[in-house]
Amino acid sequence: MNTMNKRKSMIIDGRPVAIEGEKNILDVIRKAGIDMPTLCYHSNLSTYGACRMCVVEGNRGEIMASCSTPPKAGMEIKTNTPRLQKYRKMVLELMLADHCRECTTCEKNFDCELQTMAMKFGLKDIRFENYSIGDEKAERDNSSYSIVRSPNKCIICGDCVRMCSEIQNVGAIDFAYRGSNVEVTTAFDMPLAETNCVNCGQCAAICPTGALVIKSNVDEVWKDIYDPEVKVVAQIAPAVRVALGDEFDLPKGTNVMGKIVGAMKRLGFDEVYDTSTAADLTVIEEANELLAKIKSGNTEMPLFTSCCPAWMKYAEDNHPELVPYISSCKSPMGMMSSVIKAKDARDNEGNKKAKKTKVVAVMPCTAKKFEIHREDQMLDGEQATNHSITTVELADMIRSAGLRFEDVLPEAVEMPYGIASGAGVIFGVTGGVTEAAIRYVIGDRNQIADIAFAGVRGFEGLKEVKIPLDEAGENILSVAIVSGLKNTENLIKAIQAGEVHYDFVEVMACEGGCIAGGGQPFVIGRAKEERSAGIYEADRMSGVRMSADNPVTEALYKNLLTGKAAHHLLHYK
Ligand code: SF4
Ligand code: SF4
Ligand code: SF4
Repeated sequence: MNTMNKRKSMIIDGRPVAIEGEKNILDVIRKAGIDMPTLCYHSNLSTYGACRMCVVEGNRGEIMASCSTPPKAGMEIKTNTPRLQKYRKMVLELMLADHCRECTTCEKNFDCELQTMAMKFGLKDIRFENYSIGDEKAERDNSSYSIVRSPNKCIICGDCVRMCSEIQNVGAIDFAYRGSNVEVTTAFDMPLAETNCVNCGQCAAICPTGALVIKSNVDEVWKDIYDPEVKVVAQIAPAVRVALGDEFDLPKGTNVMGKIVGAMKRLGFDEVYDTSTAADLTVIEEANELLAKIKSGNTEMPLFTSCCPAWMKYAEDNHPELVPYISSCKSPMGMMSSVIKAKDARDNEGNKKAKKTKVVAVMPCTAKKFEIHREDQMLDGEQATNHSITTVELADMIRSAGLRFEDVLPEAVEMPYGIASGAGVIFGVTGGVTEAAIRYVIGDRNQIADIAFAGVRGFEGLKEVKIPLDEAGENILSVAIVSGLKNTENLIKAIQAGEVHYDFVEVMACEGGCIAGGGQPFVIGRAKEERSAGIYEADRMSGVRMSADNPVTEALYKNLLTGKAAHHLLHYK
């Protein structure tokens, strides 16, 4: 090895590999094309080094965890030796000894990293007694609308704990007890529903086992589909169309909206609509709320968006002083369900034979399962949205019905809600709500491209945009776009300290927005780039780019959302 190589590279399995700023050996190993096993390393979280699966052997025979060892020039390591294989198998056996092993009935069956790892390492027998049997930890926590906890499937990797505290700033779950009694649990072992959990589902998305899973509502949906007295109406959120394909091995970010409609019709849904249509209503209502706020001179605090239920709960739990500044608009899901129910009620008035309408929302989101039960989201005392299922649950339904998704013929969304603007579709990605609202506020179709390049797009945790509202540039709209609740907390502190001032703040609890929601198929990096590219392409290809130009919303304001009905159906306060 020459001096240059020695200074900048290390030896992995006898081959030199450049060190280019990686913080640990694991990242260098992965760059070298080796799929190093790990159950607890995620580059966006702090390093915990708990699972010990990523161990490597140094040239003096020393064994070290590659995730918590920084690379050094000239360092020599081996990633695959008989000793390491034996060590990893032993670690897996010990994990499985304390693990409920009812794989066939586990929600994570075939999608469990522990199971995959056991298969990869050819584990056929576990030499230790299964001491999870009869364990009091086995009791499931089913209290939350969004998440089910099965502590006896936990391998103490700590991924959820770090996700909940480092990215989401919530800390609803943490380690408790010591030594072999260590557990991941809530404060005082409270049911999750009674904690400050915001239902974002990011812990379940990252959990490598079935210890934290998204609660499934698929059985209730099937029950309604099979009920001849019920008309089952579905709505599909913007971010679902660019993620469902991941479940069926389609290229990441492929827009499968037409296939979703086709598949859902075959599953037995009576009507299938696009939540993006209601997002157009949200844009109009929220932008008008913002303009009225600015006009009134009440601009000391910004108007915060209200479409993310995890953010709403976070604000209520941690910043009740901000609640008055959160928009009064229902989320697009809430608006869509309310409009569907109100129109059906009007159309069926006096018809005793009319079926009962139930709305199923297909969402990228686990917090929506919580939102539909909120008192302030009820419509005339009843749930406006009857069930909220995730993208992954829809894939489960398609599979369980035996539909071959690749063969499903695309179908169009039907009238009377069959048109959505591109502005409504971009709600699925961070910055989309703001971009759509700015289009509406400026109202100039020639500026759509300029708005896209004004700083609203991209995945930075905090984006700031200043938009002149008049040609002279005397009135400037100042906007912040934030995703991830830790980023949100930092922004709130800066606003409250008077360090920054905004007119409008878009908050999405999930980093990157709903395309990376807890209910989306979990692929490495969440395919954010590909999914957002799919969303922006759908916008570009849309015949209607501005919410105000959507003939469906125009017709709704003329025929249904008249007088007090608009506020009653579209606002929660
Ligand atoms: S619940 Fe899941 S993510 Fe959390 S520590 Fe246990 S196995 Fe890891
Ligand atoms: S759902 Fe979100 S807030 Fe709740 S425990 Fe999981 S990561 Fe934390
Ligand atoms: S960002 Fe989207 S997916 Fe995530 S919690 Fe909020 S609404 Fe749900």
